[in-house]
Amino acid sequence: MIAVLKTGTTQKQIDSLIGWIESQGLSVHLSAGEYQTIVGLIGDTTKIDEDLLQSLDIVETVKRISEPFKSANRKFHPDNTVVSVENTSVGGNIFAVMAGPCSVESEEQVIEIAKAVKAAGATMLRGGAFKPRTSPYDFQGLKAEGIEYLLEAKKITGLPIVTEIMNAAHLPLFENVDVIQVGARNMQNFELLKELGRTNKPILLKRGMSATIKEWLMSAEYIMAGGNENIILCERGIRSFDAQYTRNVLDLSAIPVLHELTHLPVIVDPSHATGASRLVKPMAMAAAACGADGLMIEVHNNPRAALCDGPQSLTPEQFADVMESVAPFITK
Ligand code: PEP
Ligand code: MN
Repeated sequence: MIAVLKTGTTQKQIDSLIGWIESQGLSVHLSAGEYQTIVGLIGDTTKIDEDLLQSLDIVETVKRISEPFKSANRKFHPDNTVVSVENTSVGGNIFAVMAGPCSVESEEQVIEIAKAVKAAGATMLRGGAFKPRTSPYDFQGLKAEGIEYLLEAKKITGLPIVTEIMNAAHLPLFENVDVIQVGARNMQNFELLKELGRTNKPILLKRGMSATIKEWLMSAEYIMAGGNENIILCERGIRSFDAQYTRNVLDLSAIPVLHELTHLPVIVDPSHATGASRLVKPMAMAAAACGADGLMIEVHNNPRAALCDGPQSLTPEQFADVMESVAPFITK
């Protein structure tokens, strides 16, 4: 439930309203905009007498909100969230591009790719150190050593780093990581999400492979409920009935829908969405045209020899071409 306050309401009146709401066992999310103050009532609002709230002389309107996600809801927070990451950001007026290998394979490899993607205009370096592989016999990532190599590449290029966490017990290893990725397979690992909510790190929350938009936003809500509002959503394709030609189906419609529903920034990963390097460029252009706040793209110096996701990885030259092709479609 939200209450829009009349213009001219004083701080004292707001404090007294908050006190009354809290005495009903609810908590409050206050959004003080330039022209309007909105009070979000969080908790079991069935206890609140809507007519009584509406009758207060400082209240303009009262609305019940059916969506169960409150903190992520644009209704409570009309302005876009800008997630700051070191010297750059996601959701502001910069089109964020996170690029790099699916998995970190060696120090030389990740440094070479970092330099190449930076030269082509990437704003962050991505690379997997802990890899969630479908088969336990596949390469599982270099783990802590992989994070060290990413930090080395950051030192040389200045690019902030993005890497995936699979287990909350590994959090101490992520102390110097700039953006912590939660992969599709862990989108509903609620204990992990709660732990990440207790940090203040930017979290890149990928959509689960069969998650609805509402389930995805509820996962963001788990992190936000712990106090961490630095969340970036990443559409990475959803499972469908036809995986013959594309690995997943890229849900481009999720971008404008999410911009309506939430203030959180939304980026698109055309690499995992399609599973094919030749499809990355058209989907990246489409994502930019649909209003995405950025992209995540897999780039490898030798895709044919990649230990993970080679078929969808771009060479540095192909990545530079994608960056040029995407530029005219960027809406910010
Ligand atoms: C990845 O980004 O390398 C990855 C494993 O992605 P997803 O979780 O979307 O499958
Ligand atoms: Mn991958």
